[in-house]
Amino acid sequence: MPQPEIPEEAYELLGEAANRCDQVTRYNLLERVLAGVVDDDLRESSEGKQGWIYIYRQKHGKSNEFKIGKYVGPNPRDRIRQWEKKCGHEIELVRTWEVAFARTTEQLIETELKGMDDVWLGSRECRGPDGSSGCGAHHQEWYKASEQELCQIISYWVDYTNRMVDELLLTRECTRMVDDG
Ligand SMILES: [Zn+2]
Repeated sequence: MPQPEIPEEAYELLGEAANRCDQVTRYNLLERVLAGVVDDDLRESSEGKQGWIYIYRQKHGKSNEFKIGKYVGPNPRDRIRQWEKKCGHEIELVRTWEVAFARTTEQLIETELKGMDDVWLGSRECRGPDGSSGCGAHHQEWYKASEQELCQIISYWVDYTNRMVDELLLTRECTRMVDDG
């Protein structure tokens, strides 16, 4: 698919991630960044709701296969319990991050991971660690990589969007000051 020319400087917006990714992924990430924060994120953030990114793996499952997701609410463990109940297997929660814009952050993480070779496991049918059937759904958010590598990428985008909040607040403050004259 032909892509429009993007000036090199634009990629500076991505920070270090620009060096990690191939050209197509850089383009996709930049497009996501320039689209701004997802509306639902802005609304929940203004309502003071807490957002989270979490990473887990199946207990007794493959140690290098992880699911990454987002949750909005006080305690991400509630989401883990929902998954356990829905999918019918035990889960080992590896780590959670509190983040201002959970959906936007998740999309950035997904965009980078899906651009990496052999990391995204695609759409796959839910199964237990012993091959037993799960919830019957096809899950899309499973990735195969080292825990350290995935956590580094997640942390990067969590920091990134948390910084975006500061900039947004600053922009709003400036707009208000200008409006107030
Ligand atoms: Zn499932």
